[in-house]
Amino acid sequence: ANFTELGLIPPLLARLTELEYQQPTPIQAQAIPSILAGRDLIAGANTGSGKTATFALPLLQKIHEKQLSNSEKNPKGNYVTGLILVPTRELAKQVADSIKSYAVHFNGAIKTVAVFGGVSANTQMLALRGGSDILVATPGRLLDLISSNAIKLDRVSTLVLDEADRMLSLGFTEELSALLALLPKKKQTLLFSATFPEQVKALTQELLNNPIEIQV
Ligand code: AMP
Repeated sequence: ANFTELGLIPPLLARLTELEYQQPTPIQAQAIPSILAGRDLIAGANTGSGKTATFALPLLQKIHEKQLSNSEKNPKGNYVTGLILVPTRELAKQVADSIKSYAVHFNGAIKTVAVFGGVSANTQMLALRGGSDILVATPGRLLDLISSNAIKLDRVSTLVLDEADRMLSLGFTEELSALLALLPKKKQTLLFSATFPEQVKALTQELLNNPIEIQV
């Protein structure tokens, strides 16, 4: 399959051509059509599989389509539509940079912010003013920002857990539960993990609704 056959739209296809992505990786070919169709997903995938584009491209497409249908300019508030939880600061930056790169042909219409610990929260709070279409976050810093009313999660329509096994092994279990409790029940959830220890299995049981399962 090529990217067009997966159902992606021209602003994304043009960018993939520029990035010289000649064909989808196996996880992209298997997962993107299901994600576009609204299904939940459990993916066993390592770094290097192309997992970031697997969730980023459909997420950007859905947000773009939502923007086209919501012509009324209601105030955005401090809301986020697509939430991506990651275990580390490095991954947060890397995922946000990839998303921004994939989004260049939306001409600034889709806002992406990364928040993570280890640096002052002030700049991140400023970046979140007026909300963000996509937020890439480590769990602890995100909880802090929610406590200070910098961001609200009650309008999240897509949740991505990236490197779920690392997130749990790094001790984010409690933070994760606290965050999940703040999300709307009705949403699409995509979970990516290299390994599936009991803790991750329990999380998928609790969180995912009739998911597609893919192992690459
Ligand atoms: P990831 O597994 O998301 O960390 O991606 C690994 C690397 O593969 C990144 O540098 C991506 O830019 C690149 N990549 C992702 N999908 C493709 C593709 N279909 N063709 C070529 N490179 C890709």
